[in-house]
Amino acid sequence: MEPYYKYSDFLKEKHGEKTYKLPLNLPLTCPNRDGQLGDKGCYFCGEEAAGFESEPEESIRQQLLELKEYIGPRFNANKFIAYFQNFTNTYLPLPRLKMYIREALTVEDIVEVSLSTRPDCVDYEYLKAIKSLVNTVNSEVALSLELGLQSVNYHSLQRANRGHTLAHFIDAVLTARTCNFELGAHLILNLPGDDMEDVKENARILSALRVDNVKLHALYLREGTEFARQYQRGELEMISLEEYIERVITFLEYLDPRIAVQRLLGRAPREGSVFVNWGMDNRKIHNMIIAEMKERGSKQGDKFNYLQGHCLDKFK
Ligand code: SF4
Repeated sequence: MEPYYKYSDFLKEKHGEKTYKLPLNLPLTCPNRDGQLGDKGCYFCGEEAAGFESEPEESIRQQLLELKEYIGPRFNANKFIAYFQNFTNTYLPLPRLKMYIREALTVEDIVEVSLSTRPDCVDYEYLKAIKSLVNTVNSEVALSLELGLQSVNYHSLQRANRGHTLAHFIDAVLTARTCNFELGAHLILNLPGDDMEDVKENARILSALRVDNVKLHALYLREGTEFARQYQRGELEMISLEEYIERVITFLEYLDPRIAVQRLLGRAPREGSVFVNWGMDNRKIHNMIIAEMKERGSKQGDKFNYLQGHCLDKFK
């Protein structure tokens, strides 16, 4: 058994059986690239913006059918999530996003629609309209939102040119919750400027807000990004693999054990990258983290004892 609450278990509990995400790409952009906030993008963001895994030229239905045909038999899966993963999905005009979602819902066995976005692109009326569309087409389909937070340290967010702060994230969480979206957050545990205190505070804030799941990333540097240039000029240092492992373990120990964890680090193609996962396979690093936790007898939530007036515990 893994020493953390796995997202796959969370999905099994929610949907009654193994459920797989089918990552979709939409032809869109984000306000940090199109000039609304800026045109440089986040300093770690490659042009692909997380869309490595499927072809944006294909229709949503086509992408879903192809992925389903590949993943279904391979993993013996019958239920799927239409996962709109790239750029900033809610930065589309509402009628267009509704059109894509409607198209996704024409595919059989889609039990959830998941949207990823920036915290400053979450609006109550917009989410309400999505909710109402999904309820009208198929009220059994769940809705979730994944928010790119990356760090609760707003100085590090500024250094990464994110263009939003922690306040936007808190606002987005409260808004999405009012509209009954399930919530996930993405974090980069080694964002430049962050140290172990930030890692602990990441866990504390997500626990206090009680998001439903979290996805962890180790920073990778795609060619042509500002962070890659800083790294090549010797202005940015990457932490060691040992330090990253320590950060993941600490994060999990501070995290509410009811929050599911999607992954402990991501992956990116070596080609076109200046730095990816210390030159190692992400599965191998995952296994190293788990082995270390088992060796220490450590598990998610071991240090989750700081909320709900913890200073008053002495009177209990
Ligand atoms: S918000 Fe997302 S898509 Fe936009 S620049 Fe940043 S990482 Fe890239």
